[in-house]
Parts: sequence; C-alpha cells; structure tokens
Amino acid sequence: MSTGMTYVITQKCVGTCDTACVDVCPCDCIVGPVPLDQLRAVPPRERGRAFPGVQMFIDPDECIDCGACIAVCPVDAIVADSDASADDLERNARFFTRARAGAGSSGDATRSRRARSA
Ligand code: SF4
Ligand code: SF4
Repeated sequence: MSTGMTYVITQKCVGTCDTACVDVCPCDCIVGPVPLDQLRAVPPRERGRAFPGVQMFIDPDECIDCGACIAVCPVDAIVADSDASADDLERNARFFTRARAGAGSSGDATRSRRARSA
C-alpha cells in the first residue's frame, strides 16, 4: 500500500547491501535489520554470506523523496514505490511493522545512523 511518492529498496539490494545509500541520505531514514557497524565490519563481498537475505529499507514516514540514494546504488535497487513489486512493498511494510512493534527487543531494527568513527 503506498501513501504518496516515496522510494522503496527492492530485493536487488540482497547480496550487495553496501550501504552507500545510507551515507547520502540527508535524514537517516535508510535502515536495516543488522546494526550498521556490524554490517560494515564485514567486507561487502562477504555480506551476502554473513547475513543471508539482508537488505536495507527506506522508512516511508521519514523519507523526503530527495532521490539522492538512487544515484549511488550500484545495483539499481531503489525505485519509486509506484514501480516496486507488491512483494517488495509488502516486505518493506512488514519490516517497519515489526521494527516498530518490537522496539526494545534484541531482534528489532536498528536505525542505521551514519557512524563516522573514522
Ligand atoms: S530519497 Fe532521499 S530521503 Fe529518501 S531514502 Fe533516498 S536519500 Fe533518503
Ligand atoms: S546502495 Fe543499493 S545495494 Fe547498497 S545498501 Fe543501498 S539499496 Fe542496497
């Protein structure tokens, strides 16, 4: 279900998940199931094996539709919600439903704030 124009990360992200989009997002609304520092501790080429099925998601309540993330994605995984498949929209909705319902549990989503700890 879409509520106005926003962007959606599709399953093309799975197996790449390099988090380039996170660095350019002006409002830190790109999140994932694995804390960013844990994800980045594993080389991008090994992430698919270390975290099977992992991908990032865009919080539709926070995204300002600037489009900056689209240009940096190496696998063109980010599309307008009107171009996303029903499956990708459902995965996105399910991710945020669980994240919000499970806030505080060990398995909840961790907002991927940019950790610029050089
Ligand atoms: S469109 Fe802009 S605000 Fe939305 S997720 Fe991409 S970079 Fe962030
Ligand atoms: S830039 Fe593309 S492949 Fe990389 S994490 Fe973002 S959506 Fe996934």
